[in-house]
Amino acid sequence: MKTIATIFARLALSAALALWLWVSLSPNPRPAAVPATAPAQDFSTERAMVHVGAMAQKPHPPGTAEHDRVRDYVRGELARLGLESQLETGKGEYSQRGYHISGRVENIVALLPGAANTRPVMLAAHYDSVPTGPGAGDDAHGVAVLLETLRALRSGPREPGVPAQPGVPLLPSGPPLRNDVIFLFTDGEERGMLGADLFMREHPWRHDPGVVLNFEARGTGGSSFMFETSPGNAWMIRHLQAAVPRAEATSVAYEIYRHMGNDTDLSVFKRGGLAGMNFAFIGHPEFYHRPQDDVAHLDWRSVQEQGRYALSLTRVFGNQDLAATHAGNAVYFPTRLTSLIVYPASWVMPLAWIAPIGLTAAAWFGRAVRGRWIAIPLAIVAALAFLAAANVPGAAYLLEWPLIAGIGSFALLVSAPPTLGFGWRLLGILICPSAIFLLLVPLVSDLMVALGPRRAAPLLAGDVLLILACLSPQLVLVFRSATPR
Ligand SMILES: [Zn+2]
Repeated sequence: MKTIATIFARLALSAALALWLWVSLSPNPRPAAVPATAPAQDFSTERAMVHVGAMAQKPHPPGTAEHDRVRDYVRGELARLGLESQLETGKGEYSQRGYHISGRVENIVALLPGAANTRPVMLAAHYDSVPTGPGAGDDAHGVAVLLETLRALRSGPREPGVPAQPGVPLLPSGPPLRNDVIFLFTDGEERGMLGADLFMREHPWRHDPGVVLNFEARGTGGSSFMFETSPGNAWMIRHLQAAVPRAEATSVAYEIYRHMGNDTDLSVFKRGGLAGMNFAFIGHPEFYHRPQDDVAHLDWRSVQEQGRYALSLTRVFGNQDLAATHAGNAVYFPTRLTSLIVYPASWVMPLAWIAPIGLTAAAWFGRAVRGRWIAIPLAIVAALAFLAAANVPGAAYLLEWPLIAGIGSFALLVSAPPTLGFGWRLLGILICPSAIFLLLVPLVSDLMVALGPRRAAPLLAGDVLLILACLSPQLVLVFRSATPR
C-alpha cells in the first residue's frame, strides 16, 4: 500500500510542478487589432495603419524630398483633425563620448486645449526615418498612434454601427480633458535626437509638460513594453496600472536604463527635467533599420498595444492634477495570473531582511532533521538579494519573492512530521513555488526575445541556477513525498 501511495504522491506532485511550468510559460493574451468600424472614441489600428501606409513608403531622413512629403502629410492630418500646427525650425545638436553632430531640423508641434489645464500631457514620436529603410515601425507607427489618439480624443459619442474612417468628417467634439495635450513630432531622431534637443533648448513650452509619453520601436512586432521611466516614477506607475491593468512593464528595465547610455528622445526630455514613460515593441529586431521595416512586416497587434497605452494614459493623465509634485520609485512587474503588481521601493530592504530571519528560524527549528544542506543555496540567494536591494532595488523582487517561496517550502520540508497529511504537502507544493514560476520562469523567454540567444546565455544560466536554488526544497519534497524519514 505504501508503495502505491508513494508513486501516486510523486506523480501528483510532479504534475503540480508541470502545471506551474505551463502556466508561467503560456504567453499573455494580446489585444486584437481594432477595425475601422469601431466606435469613434476608440483607438483603431486599421485607422492608424492608413497613416503608416501614407508615410512609410520610402526612407525619409532629413534633407530629402520624401522627408518633406511626410512632414506635410502630418501637418495636413493635424489640420484635418482641427489643430493648427507649428513648425519649429532650428539647429539640433548631439554630443557624447567624443562624437559630435548637429543639423537643421523641423519639429511639428500642436496643442489640444484642455478645460482647466494644470500641466499638459505631451505625446511624442519622431517622423524621420533612417536612410536604410522606410521606417514603418521606427517610427511611422508612433506618429500614426499620436494622430489616431488625437482623433479618438476629439470624437464625441457616435451612432452605433456608423463607421469612423479617415477622410470622414469628425462628429462634434466630445467633452475635453482637464489638461492640455501637446503633440510633438520630432525630427532628426535617428541622427542623434536632434529635434528633441532643439525642442528642449528653445521651445517656449519645453518646461510645461507634467508627463511625456514617447512611442518608439526596435523591430516590427511583438508585445509593446513600457520600458523606461524618469526617476520618482511611483505616481506614473499607479496610473499605468489603472489605465492598462495588464501592462507589460517591469522595474528591472528601469534599473537597466538608469545605468545605460541614452538612445531615444525620452533621454533628452528626461535630461531637461521632464517626467515621462517610454513605450516600444522589439519583436523581429533583424528588420530594425532595414528595408523590411515596412507596412507589410508591421504587426498590427503591436500598434494596437501602443495605441491602447497612448489613449488610455492620455485620458487618465489628462484628468489628473499634474501640478502636484511626486517622489518615490515603485517596484512593478507583470505576472501571468494578475494585473501589474506595484509596491513602493521602500519595501525592498524590509523584504530582503525577511529571508535571513526566516531561513535561520527554519534551520534552527529543523536542526535535528536530515536535509538541512538545502539551506545553503538559499543562503547564497539571500546574500545576492541583499546586494540587489542595496544597488538595483527595482530588480530585487526577482530574488526576494522566489527566495521567500523557497524558504517557505524549506520550512515545510524540515517541519513536516512523517504523519503530515498528503493533502497538506500537496497544498504546500502547489502554493510555495508560485513566485518562482511566475517571476523567474518567464524571464527565460523574455531574455531570449530582448537580447537574442547568444547575449542572453550567461543571464539564462544564472536564471536557471536561481530557479534550481529556490526550487530545491520542492524537489526534495517531491522525491520524499510520502516516504517517512
Ligand atoms: Zn526610432
